[in-house]
Amino acid sequence: MRGGPVKALVFTAPGTMELLDVPEPDPAPGEVVVEVRAAGICGSELHGARRPGFRQPPLIMGHEFAGIGADGEAVVVNPILSCGRCPECRRGLRHVCREREIIGVHRAGGFAERVAVPASALRPLPPGLSWEAAALIEPAANAVHAWNLALGAVGVECSRVAVIGCGAIGLLCAATALSGGAGRVEVTDLSPARLAAAQRLGAQVADPGLSGQYDVVIDAVGSAATRAASVAHQRPGGVAVWLGLAEEEAGFDANALIRSEKRILGSFAYRDEEFAHAMALIRDWDLTWAAGYPLVQGAEIFTGLMNGGLHPVKALLRP
Ligand SMILES: [Zn+2]
Ligand SMILES: [Zn+2]
Repeated sequence: MRGGPVKALVFTAPGTMELLDVPEPDPAPGEVVVEVRAAGICGSELHGARRPGFRQPPLIMGHEFAGIGADGEAVVVNPILSCGRCPECRRGLRHVCREREIIGVHRAGGFAERVAVPASALRPLPPGLSWEAAALIEPAANAVHAWNLALGAVGVECSRVAVIGCGAIGLLCAATALSGGAGRVEVTDLSPARLAAAQRLGAQVADPGLSGQYDVVIDAVGSAATRAASVAHQRPGGVAVWLGLAEEEAGFDANALIRSEKRILGSFAYRDEEFAHAMALIRDWDLTWAAGYPLVQGAEIFTGLMNGGLHPVKALLRP
Protein backbone atom coordinates (compact mmCIF):
# COMPACT_ATOMS: atom_id res chain seq x y z
CA MET A 1 0.00 0.00 0.00
CA ARG A 2 1.08 3.57 -0.62
CA GLY A 3 2.15 5.68 2.34
CA GLY A 4 5.68 4.36 2.76
CA PRO A 5 8.29 3.58 3.74
CA VAL A 6 9.29 2.01 0.46
CA LYS A 7 11.77 -0.81 0.01
CA ALA A 8 14.54 0.11 -2.40
CA LEU A 9 17.86 -1.26 -3.55
CA VAL A 10 20.27 1.62 -2.96
CA PHE A 11 23.77 2.07 -4.37
CA THR A 12 25.36 3.42 -1.18
CA ALA A 13 29.12 3.27 -1.90
CA PRO A 14 31.47 1.89 -4.58
CA GLY A 15 30.68 -1.83 -4.95
CA THR A 16 27.91 -1.71 -2.31
CA MET A 17 24.19 -2.20 -2.86
CA GLU A 18 21.83 -2.28 0.14
CA LEU A 19 18.13 -2.98 0.56
CA LEU A 20 16.85 0.02 2.53
CA ASP A 21 13.56 1.56 3.61
CA VAL A 22 13.32 4.96 1.93
CA PRO A 23 10.61 7.63 2.24
CA GLU A 24 7.49 7.38 0.10
CA PRO A 25 8.25 9.13 -3.23
CA ASP A 26 6.86 12.66 -3.28
CA PRO A 27 5.92 13.53 -6.87
CA ALA A 28 6.74 17.08 -7.99
CA PRO A 29 4.23 18.90 -10.24
CA GLY A 30 4.01 16.99 -13.52
CA GLU A 31 5.24 13.76 -11.95
CA VAL A 32 3.43 10.55 -11.09
CA VAL A 33 4.25 7.61 -8.83
CA VAL A 34 4.79 4.27 -10.56
CA GLU A 35 4.38 1.02 -8.65
CA VAL A 36 7.24 -1.00 -10.11
CA ARG A 37 6.48 -4.57 -11.25
CA ALA A 38 9.75 -5.48 -12.99
CA ALA A 39 13.09 -3.69 -13.37
CA GLY A 40 16.04 -5.07 -15.31
CA ILE A 41 19.61 -4.93 -14.01
CA CYS A 42 21.76 -3.48 -16.80
CA GLY A 43 25.40 -4.32 -17.48
CA SER A 44 26.17 -0.59 -17.37
CA GLU A 45 24.93 -0.57 -13.76
CA LEU A 46 27.25 -3.41 -12.78
CA HIS A 47 30.20 -1.42 -14.17
CA GLY A 48 28.81 1.80 -12.68
CA ALA A 49 28.53 0.36 -9.17
CA ARG A 50 32.17 -0.72 -9.24
CA ARG A 51 33.49 2.50 -10.72
CA PRO A 52 31.29 5.46 -9.81
CA GLY A 53 31.44 8.23 -12.39
CA PHE A 54 28.32 8.57 -14.51
CA ARG A 55 26.41 7.22 -11.47
CA GLN A 56 27.12 8.66 -8.02
CA PRO A 57 26.01 7.17 -4.67
CA PRO A 58 23.61 7.36 -2.97
CA LEU A 59 21.38 6.34 -5.89
CA ILE A 60 18.43 4.06 -6.56
CA MET A 61 19.41 2.71 -9.99
CA GLY A 62 17.08 1.07 -12.52
CA HIS A 63 16.35 2.57 -15.95
CA GLU A 64 14.63 -0.49 -17.49
CA PHE A 65 11.27 -0.82 -15.77
CA ALA A 66 7.54 -1.18 -16.04
CA GLY A 67 4.70 -1.06 -13.54
CA ILE A 68 1.36 0.43 -12.61
CA GLY A 69 0.70 4.14 -13.10
CA ALA A 70 -1.34 6.46 -10.89
CA ASP A 71 -4.64 5.53 -12.56
CA GLY A 72 -4.03 1.77 -12.32
CA GLU A 73 -2.84 1.48 -15.92
CA ALA A 74 0.08 -0.72 -17.02
CA VAL A 75 2.99 1.43 -18.15
CA VAL A 76 6.60 1.19 -19.23
CA VAL A 77 8.99 4.04 -18.52
CA ASN A 78 11.08 5.69 -21.22
CA PRO A 79 13.90 6.87 -18.94
CA ILE A 80 15.45 9.44 -21.31
CA LEU A 81 14.65 12.95 -20.08
CA SER A 82 15.50 15.83 -22.41
CA CYS A 83 15.24 19.61 -22.29
CA GLY A 84 13.19 20.16 -25.45
CA ARG A 85 15.10 23.37 -26.22
CA CYS A 86 18.68 22.53 -27.25
CA PRO A 87 19.71 22.15 -30.93
CA GLU A 88 19.57 18.32 -30.73
CA CYS A 89 16.09 18.32 -29.20
CA ARG A 90 14.95 20.76 -31.89
CA ARG A 91 16.35 18.40 -34.56
CA GLY A 92 14.30 15.51 -33.16
CA LEU A 93 17.33 13.87 -31.54
CA ARG A 94 16.27 14.23 -27.92
CA HIS A 95 18.18 11.05 -26.93
CA VAL A 96 21.43 13.03 -27.39
CA CYS A 97 20.04 16.18 -25.72
CA ARG A 98 22.82 18.36 -24.30
CA GLU A 99 21.04 18.40 -20.95
CA ARG A 100 19.97 14.76 -21.10
CA GLU A 101 19.20 13.04 -17.83
CA ILE A 102 18.31 9.40 -17.34
CA ILE A 103 15.90 8.04 -14.74
CA GLY A 104 17.93 5.63 -12.58
CA VAL A 105 21.18 7.48 -13.33
CA HIS A 106 20.59 11.16 -12.54
CA ARG A 107 17.51 10.62 -10.36
CA ALA A 108 15.91 7.68 -8.54
CA GLY A 109 14.95 4.75 -10.77
CA GLY A 110 13.09 1.46 -10.72
CA PHE A 111 14.91 -0.66 -8.11
CA ALA A 112 12.19 0.21 -5.58
CA GLU A 113 8.58 -0.63 -4.82
CA ARG A 114 7.53 2.83 -5.99
CA VAL A 115 9.23 5.72 -7.75
CA ALA A 116 8.13 9.20 -8.88
CA VAL A 117 8.81 9.96 -12.56
CA PRO A 118 7.75 12.72 -14.95
CA ALA A 119 4.35 11.82 -16.42
CA SER A 120 5.88 12.46 -19.87
CA ALA A 121 8.13 9.39 -19.41
CA LEU A 122 5.21 6.94 -19.23
CA ARG A 123 4.14 4.86 -22.22
CA PRO A 124 1.01 2.68 -22.06
CA LEU A 125 1.81 -1.02 -22.32
CA PRO A 126 0.08 -3.08 -24.96
CA PRO A 127 -2.29 -5.62 -23.38
CA GLY A 128 -1.07 -9.16 -22.77
CA LEU A 129 2.63 -8.37 -22.42
CA SER A 130 4.32 -10.00 -19.41
CA TRP A 131 6.05 -7.75 -16.87
CA GLU A 132 9.35 -9.44 -17.75
CA ALA A 133 8.91 -8.58 -21.44
CA ALA A 134 7.84 -5.05 -20.50
CA ALA A 135 11.08 -4.51 -18.55
CA LEU A 136 13.05 -5.60 -21.64
CA ILE A 137 11.51 -2.93 -23.89
CA GLU A 138 14.17 -0.36 -22.92
CA PRO A 139 17.17 -2.56 -23.78
CA ALA A 140 15.33 -3.69 -26.93
CA ALA A 141 14.93 -0.03 -27.93
CA ASN A 142 18.73 0.31 -27.77
CA ALA A 143 18.96 -2.61 -30.20
CA VAL A 144 16.37 -1.11 -32.56
CA HIS A 145 18.35 2.14 -32.62
CA ALA A 146 21.64 0.35 -33.33
CA TRP A 147 20.02 -1.60 -36.16
CA ASN A 148 18.51 1.55 -37.67
CA LEU A 149 21.93 3.21 -37.60
CA ALA A 150 23.43 0.16 -39.36
CA LEU A 151 20.70 0.17 -42.03
CA GLY A 152 21.17 3.89 -42.53
CA ALA A 153 24.87 3.30 -43.22
CA VAL A 154 24.77 0.26 -45.49
CA GLY A 155 21.22 0.39 -46.86
CA VAL A 156 19.22 -2.80 -47.07
CA GLU A 157 22.28 -4.81 -48.18
CA CYS A 158 22.68 -6.48 -44.78
CA SER A 159 23.10 -10.06 -45.83
CA ARG A 160 25.69 -10.95 -43.21
CA VAL A 161 25.65 -9.48 -39.71
CA ALA A 162 27.87 -10.28 -36.73
CA VAL A 163 27.03 -9.54 -33.12
CA ILE A 164 29.92 -9.66 -30.65
CA GLY A 165 28.71 -10.46 -27.13
CA CYS A 166 25.44 -12.16 -26.17
CA GLY A 167 24.43 -10.33 -23.04
CA ALA A 168 20.90 -8.93 -23.15
CA ILE A 169 21.84 -6.12 -25.55
CA GLY A 170 23.69 -8.47 -27.92
CA LEU A 171 20.79 -10.96 -27.91
CA LEU A 172 18.29 -8.19 -28.56
CA CYS A 173 20.49 -6.82 -31.38
CA ALA A 174 20.56 -10.27 -32.99
CA ALA A 175 16.76 -10.58 -32.68
CA THR A 176 16.23 -7.06 -34.07
CA ALA A 177 18.51 -7.71 -37.05
CA LEU A 178 16.70 -10.97 -37.83
CA SER A 179 13.30 -9.25 -37.51
CA GLY A 180 14.60 -6.33 -39.58
CA GLY A 181 15.70 -8.14 -42.71
CA ALA A 182 19.24 -9.41 -42.02
CA GLY A 183 19.88 -12.52 -44.07
CA ARG A 184 22.16 -14.18 -41.58
CA VAL A 185 23.15 -13.14 -38.06
CA GLU A 186 26.22 -14.72 -36.46
CA VAL A 187 27.08 -14.25 -32.80
CA THR A 188 30.08 -14.74 -30.53
CA ASP A 189 30.30 -15.11 -26.77
CA LEU A 190 32.36 -17.07 -24.27
CA SER A 191 29.29 -18.54 -22.54
CA PRO A 192 27.57 -21.64 -24.03
CA ALA A 193 24.31 -20.67 -22.27
CA ARG A 194 24.31 -17.26 -23.93
CA LEU A 195 25.09 -18.77 -27.33
CA ALA A 196 22.18 -21.20 -26.85
CA ALA A 197 19.90 -18.24 -26.09
CA ALA A 198 21.04 -16.58 -29.33
CA GLN A 199 20.31 -19.76 -31.27
CA ARG A 200 16.80 -19.87 -29.82
CA LEU A 201 16.33 -16.39 -31.31
CA GLY A 202 17.43 -17.65 -34.73
CA ALA A 203 21.10 -16.60 -34.79
CA GLN A 204 24.05 -18.79 -35.85
CA VAL A 205 27.15 -19.29 -33.73
CA ALA A 206 30.32 -17.84 -35.33
CA ASP A 207 33.96 -18.70 -34.67
CA PRO A 208 34.98 -17.14 -31.33
CA GLY A 209 37.25 -14.57 -33.02
CA LEU A 210 34.92 -14.14 -36.05
CA SER A 211 36.09 -15.17 -39.51
CA GLY A 212 35.50 -13.57 -42.87
CA GLN A 213 33.85 -10.24 -43.43
CA TYR A 214 30.47 -8.84 -42.52
CA ASP A 215 28.29 -6.03 -43.81
CA VAL A 216 27.53 -5.02 -40.23
CA VAL A 217 29.41 -5.86 -37.03
CA ILE A 218 27.64 -4.91 -33.81
CA ASP A 219 29.90 -4.68 -30.76
CA ALA A 220 27.81 -5.25 -27.65
CA VAL A 221 30.88 -5.70 -25.42
CA GLY A 222 33.02 -2.60 -25.84
CA SER A 223 36.52 -3.83 -25.04
CA ALA A 224 39.57 -2.75 -27.04
CA ALA A 225 39.73 -6.31 -28.45
CA THR A 226 36.09 -6.46 -29.55
CA ARG A 227 36.32 -2.96 -31.05
CA ALA A 228 39.39 -4.04 -33.04
CA ALA A 229 37.54 -7.17 -34.20
CA SER A 230 34.55 -5.10 -35.29
CA VAL A 231 36.80 -3.14 -37.65
CA ALA A 232 38.92 -6.08 -38.81
CA HIS A 233 35.87 -8.19 -39.77
CA GLN A 234 33.89 -5.45 -41.44
CA ARG A 235 33.82 -5.64 -45.25
CA PRO A 236 35.14 -2.63 -47.18
CA GLY A 237 32.39 -0.02 -47.00
CA GLY A 238 30.66 -1.89 -44.18
CA VAL A 239 29.89 -0.54 -40.75
CA ALA A 240 30.57 -1.32 -37.11
CA VAL A 241 28.02 -0.17 -34.56
CA TRP A 242 29.35 0.19 -31.04
CA LEU A 243 27.04 -0.03 -28.03
CA GLY A 244 29.27 -1.77 -25.48
CA LEU A 245 30.93 0.37 -22.82
CA ALA A 246 33.28 -2.10 -21.12
CA GLU A 247 36.47 -0.07 -21.66
CA GLU A 248 37.46 3.40 -22.74
CA GLU A 249 40.18 2.24 -25.14
CA ALA A 250 39.63 1.40 -28.81
CA GLY A 251 42.63 -0.54 -30.11
CA PHE A 252 42.04 -0.80 -33.84
CA ASP A 253 44.01 -0.18 -37.02
CA ALA A 254 42.87 3.28 -38.10
CA ASN A 255 44.84 3.15 -41.37
CA ALA A 256 43.05 -0.03 -42.45
CA LEU A 257 39.79 1.70 -41.65
CA ILE A 258 40.69 4.54 -44.02
CA ARG A 259 41.97 2.37 -46.87
CA SER A 260 38.84 0.20 -47.00
CA GLU A 261 36.39 2.98 -46.20
CA LYS A 262 35.21 1.19 -43.14
CA ARG A 263 32.95 2.98 -40.68
CA ILE A 264 32.22 3.03 -36.97
CA LEU A 265 29.06 4.45 -35.44
CA GLY A 266 28.43 5.00 -31.75
CA SER A 267 24.92 4.05 -30.67
CA PHE A 268 23.37 5.35 -27.45
CA ALA A 269 19.75 5.03 -26.34
CA TYR A 270 16.96 5.45 -28.90
CA ARG A 271 14.49 7.83 -30.44
CA ASP A 272 10.87 7.82 -29.21
CA GLU A 273 9.60 5.94 -32.25
CA GLU A 274 12.29 3.29 -31.73
CA PHE A 275 11.09 2.77 -28.15
CA ALA A 276 7.57 2.25 -29.57
CA HIS A 277 8.90 -0.14 -32.21
CA ALA A 278 10.69 -2.19 -29.53
CA MET A 279 7.38 -2.53 -27.70
CA ALA A 280 5.82 -4.05 -30.82
CA LEU A 281 8.75 -6.37 -31.59
CA ILE A 282 9.40 -7.84 -28.16
CA ARG A 283 6.28 -9.97 -27.88
CA ASP A 284 7.45 -12.26 -30.71
CA TRP A 285 10.85 -13.08 -29.23
CA ASP A 286 12.11 -15.92 -27.03
CA LEU A 287 12.96 -14.24 -23.72
CA THR A 288 13.65 -17.37 -21.65
CA TRP A 289 17.17 -16.03 -20.96
CA ALA A 290 15.74 -13.42 -18.57
CA ALA A 291 14.99 -14.43 -14.97
CA GLY A 292 13.00 -12.58 -12.30
CA TYR A 293 14.00 -12.32 -8.63
CA PRO A 294 12.26 -10.69 -5.65
CA LEU A 295 13.45 -7.14 -4.96
CA VAL A 296 14.28 -8.18 -1.37
CA GLN A 297 17.04 -10.40 -2.84
CA GLY A 298 18.26 -7.47 -4.96
CA ALA A 299 21.53 -6.79 -3.12
CA GLU A 300 22.54 -10.45 -3.32
CA ILE A 301 21.54 -10.73 -7.02
CA PHE A 302 23.23 -7.47 -8.03
CA THR A 303 26.42 -8.29 -6.13
CA GLY A 304 26.46 -11.82 -7.57
CA LEU A 305 26.25 -10.43 -11.11
CA MET A 306 28.82 -7.72 -10.36
CA ASN A 307 31.33 -10.27 -9.08
CA GLY A 308 30.61 -12.71 -11.90
CA GLY A 309 29.40 -15.53 -9.65
CA LEU A 310 25.78 -15.50 -10.86
CA HIS A 311 24.94 -16.12 -14.50
CA PRO A 312 21.43 -15.42 -15.67
CA VAL A 313 21.87 -13.54 -18.96
CA LYS A 314 19.44 -10.95 -17.63
CA ALA A 315 18.19 -10.52 -14.08
CA LEU A 316 14.96 -8.63 -13.41
CA LEU A 317 13.97 -7.44 -9.94
CA ARG A 318 10.29 -7.95 -9.08
CA PRO A 319 9.14 -5.72 -6.19
ZN1 LIG B 1 20.34 -0.56 -19.67
ZN1 LIG C 1 17.76 19.08 -25.28
